[in-house]
Amino acid sequence: MRILLIGAPGSGKGTQAVLLARLLDVPAISTGDIFRANVADRTPLGVTAQKYMDAGEYVPDEVTNAMVRDRLAADDCGTGFILDGYPRTLAQVDELDAILGADGCRLDAVVEIEVDDHQLLDRLLRRAAMQGRADDTVDVIRRRQQVYREQTAPLADAYAARGIHRLVDGVGSPEDVGGRIAGALDAVLRSRSA
Ligand code: AMP
Repeated sequence: MRILLIGAPGSGKGTQAVLLARLLDVPAISTGDIFRANVADRTPLGVTAQKYMDAGEYVPDEVTNAMVRDRLAADDCGTGFILDGYPRTLAQVDELDAILGADGCRLDAVVEIEVDDHQLLDRLLRRAAMQGRADDTVDVIRRRQQVYREQTAPLADAYAARGIHRLVDGVGSPEDVGGRIAGALDAVLRSRSA
């Protein structure tokens, strides 16, 4: 199972990626987490990424693509994965197609988690109080929402054209949302095997 979760910042895709990965026994790959680990370790990648992350901008495609290419080459990705936060631009969609296509694979399903902007801001400000993430401030959150609308929202149409995109309501308990995601995945897989 090669699955992508997309959703605006605060939509809960990180939580759902971890739940789903456990259920399917495949790794959850969060580009945001990988970048944050590199920032914490002050690696060259982290130093490059940090200035974009702190401003709420996307890290340039060539940097992100190279990092993901490495990660997907690891043994644990052989049977599948849940991607959380990649691809996020149409150029990254092309890159992921190329990475998977080289092994004769493709993405099986894309689930978009939908939550309205007011709730998202509330959730992110609560997360800011709990976790203290540098990019969870009102100004940076607004920029991240704008960048998401401009650069990532178009991915929905690109994947819908392939028949592998489903939209789920992201409001509710993690279990409720997880149930909806499982239903959406089921529907995509059934439609593909029909
Ligand atoms: P996230 O934890 O998914 O909200 O990601 C945090 C930050 O990491 C984003 O605001 C971007 O600066 C950076 N980032 C994560 N994934 C990507 C990606 N696929 N492309 C570019 N930048 C990314």
